[in-house]
Order: sequence, then structure tokens, then C-alpha cells
Amino acid sequence: MKKLVTLSLMSCLFTYGIGQTPQTTKPVPGKYPELEKMTPGMTEIWEPEVKIIQPGITNSDAPSDAIVLFSGTELNSEWSDLQGNPSKWIVKDGALISTRGAGFIKTKRKFGNFQLHIEWRTPSEVVGESQGRGNSGVFLQELYEVQVLDSYNNRTYRNGQAAAMYKQYAPLVNVCKKPGEWQAYDIIYTAPTFGNDSTLYVTPPRVTVLQNGVLVQNNVVLRGPTEYIGIPEYFVKKHGPGSIELQDHGNPVGFRNIWIREL
Ligand code: MG
Repeated sequence: MKKLVTLSLMSCLFTYGIGQTPQTTKPVPGKYPELEKMTPGMTEIWEPEVKIIQPGITNSDAPSDAIVLFSGTELNSEWSDLQGNPSKWIVKDGALISTRGAGFIKTKRKFGNFQLHIEWRTPSEVVGESQGRGNSGVFLQELYEVQVLDSYNNRTYRNGQAAAMYKQYAPLVNVCKKPGEWQAYDIIYTAPTFGNDSTLYVTPPRVTVLQNGVLVQNNVVLRGPTEYIGIPEYFVKKHGPGSIELQDHGNPVGFRNIWIREL
């Protein structure tokens, strides 16, 4: 008999664990005292009404609250060279073309958080290889490069190909079109915040990129500014809003249909 009691006790301890009380009924949600019966309306929020804007005709067209940065004709109202002078980049057949030796261009406006649409085209005449083929770039707040490159049948280091956050994140897939075909980036950017230490982010910059409608950067957390040589973390320096910059890397890369929404 004593043996049987011991066995039963051990069985209980094994089943429920030491210190636990065997539970015979499941807890019932909503057993707290209710002042009023919940209705669907209690969790509906009506005010303020969500701002109404007009979408573009297609998803590539600027919606009504976008700032158009380049529509195919005129460059100098929104862009300048890095010194603030009129740029020597060429506007031809509706495209803005990076011109060797002309240097980067930047928007005259500065931006914080934004959604940016930009279309680009590497030269149809294939010249060079790796980083030397159709290289340009879209710099966010003048510091963080989304790489533009002819990555169609053109191997290079994976974190330096088209749609890479240059030298920090390779794209999730290579969804590049052929040289000479227009491609699109839709970029969602969240600017960093800083505290008292001007060399550390409190919240780092974050970037999402869709290339030709396909997710290629999924809310990646940047380590620091884009650097060709060196560790990004060592170059973090407090900054505020910045321009969009387009890179002159010596290749005649075209851009068109550039618009931005401030967030
Ligand atoms: Mg580049």
C-alpha cells in the first residue's frame, strides 16, 4: 500500500511538476468584471480622417503629394552640382545622363524620411566589367548609396552589385533587366536619430528598396555612411536632413521620372 501511494505521488510530480497545482479547468478569457459589454465601435477610430491624395495613373507615376524632381526636360530648378552651381549633366530624350567628369549632382532640397521613385538605365553598349560597367548610384541624405550598376551577366562583389546598399547589404535577389532597358527603384528611407554622442546613432538609418517591383532590401539597418574603404561604423557623424545625390562614376547612366514623398 505504501509503495502504491509513493508511486501515485511520483506520478503527480512527473505530470505537473513540483509546486504546480493540477488544473482541471482551462482559464476563461473575459472573466474580469466588465463595466460595459464590448461592441465593435469601441475599437473603431474615426478622427482625424486619413489624408486623401490622388494616385498616379500607374504605380510609376507621381501621386498628388509627391515632389517631382525630374520629369524629363529641365534639370537646374531642382538639381545642382555639389558646389551649388548648374550641373553639366546632359538632358537628352527625356533622360538625365551622368556625364564623365561633371561630378555628382544633388537636389537643392533636403529631405528627412521619404519614399523615392527613380528610374535608371545603364548603357545599351556594354563597356567594361564588374564595377566599371554602368556604375552610378543614388545617395540618400548624401551619405548612403543604393548602388546603380549593370548587373546583368556582370559579376562583381555581391554587396556592390545593383540594388546593394553599397558594401553593407547585398540585394535579396538580382532582378536586373538587360543593359539599355529602363529599371525602377522605389526606396523607403527612415533617417537616423542622434543623441549627445555625435558619433553614434540612437536609431540607425533604415532602408527598404524595391527594384522593378521586387523587394531587394527589406528594412535593412545601416551600419554607417557608405565607404569605399573602411568600416562604416567609424564614419558615423551626426547629421540632419540631406539631399539626394546621383553619382558620376564615369559611365553614361540615364535617369528619368524621379519623384519623392516626404514622410
Ligand atoms: Mg556606384
